[in-house]
Amino acid sequence: MYPPISTDVLIVGGGVAGLWLNARLRQLGYATLLVERGALGGGQSGKSQGIIHGGAKYALHGALTGSSEAIADMPRRWRAALAGTGELDLRGVRLLSEAHYLWSPGGLAGNLTSFFASKAMRGRVDQVKGKDLPPALHHPDFKGRVYRLSELVLDVPSLIARLADLAEGSLLAGERISPLMEKDNLMGLHVDGQDITAKRVVLTAGGGNQALLDELGLRQPAMQKRPLHMVMVKAPGLKPLYAHCLGGGSKPRVTITSHPAADGELVWYLGGELAEAEGVARDEAAQIRHAQRELAELIPWIDLGGARWATLRIDRAEPVQSSLVRPDNAFLAEDGALMVGWPTKLALSPDFADRVIAALERDAIRPSTPPPLPALPAPAVASPFWEVLQ
Ligand code: FAD
Repeated sequence: MYPPISTDVLIVGGGVAGLWLNARLRQLGYATLLVERGALGGGQSGKSQGIIHGGAKYALHGALTGSSEAIADMPRRWRAALAGTGELDLRGVRLLSEAHYLWSPGGLAGNLTSFFASKAMRGRVDQVKGKDLPPALHHPDFKGRVYRLSELVLDVPSLIARLADLAEGSLLAGERISPLMEKDNLMGLHVDGQDITAKRVVLTAGGGNQALLDELGLRQPAMQKRPLHMVMVKAPGLKPLYAHCLGGGSKPRVTITSHPAADGELVWYLGGELAEAEGVARDEAAQIRHAQRELAELIPWIDLGGARWATLRIDRAEPVQSSLVRPDNAFLAEDGALMVGWPTKLALSPDFADRVIAALERDAIRPSTPPPLPALPAPAVASPFWEVLQ
């Protein structure tokens, strides 16, 4: 136990949203403390596909939606951060791919072709052919069209590790959290019996936000979970592929990202429609058989003879939506000294931090200099999920 700790902003949850926010606030001079009960990045962040969307995927029905507009600036902001010229210095984070691709196994619907050629999408989507095709699609039997999106794909474990470095001793491993109240006002949190006072408490606990809101006696904002059943495949001959394969609907039939394992082999991580409702209903063996059939149909020249397969179940946590439309911005709600939110996409973490900073500035909460933090037990960084495949 330490003497009472006081800070400007106390953050709960060490996924990308909390860690990005923590680093941004510290850079602005705020005193911060971030509490994580498991491993940093061990929630949705570390199990994401690492795509820094620019919105093209959400415009698959052929019109530029609000969603595509809100997210359109994210690749530029992340690129600047990776180059060390942006809002955070993310030099050293591993870039897996400079681009993500849209791949249509047949022809593209006419409206999509003209949409991609339209002024709104110019410079964001370019058709690629021949030697410019992604390595895994380089084959004489490949038919279909491929578009290069100006979206990045990041190695998320290296991102989490870099954001943890930028936290400079402001991370605390803590499990049991309860509110620290004075009359009806939230003054901070008890963490494993330790009092921590703060001017603002920000919940970025992903799927854990609901239980924390319950503990605080709050019914709003309501959270929803969207279950996914992802598939991993590891094989010696796999070539890099970062692509949404289009099906008939508004969601990609399958989204494939490639992740280098410690032994030098690649792991393909499969999401998209394959991982949603029907995929969630399948058991692990049926889900693997389904993925095998999909890959055999779409890229039959890839040798998966000696491949090892596994699946991963994970829920996406989001604010409840009034319709089935995907959330298109980071989401932040406020209640007195409490803020709670979901970035809704890893790519939108900068947008989430902007919203918190704007709320602090609006309330004239300025950086202060509380006593320095004692040396705190820090949470570990999660190991890459694909290392379960040997
Ligand atoms: P999380 O990463 O879930 O972090 C929450 C943290 O809070 C966890 O570490 C958890 O241990 C901790 N926590 C929970 N409860 C408590 C508590 N009581 N006390 C202390 N700590 C607590 N987005 C993209 O932009 N691009 C993609 O390619 C992409 N792919 C995805 C693929 C999958 C399979 C999934 C599931 C999501 C994907 N997303 C993607 C979405 C993205 O991963 C999430 O929007 C984002 O990672 C959420 O970050 P977060 O920090 O809010 O939550």
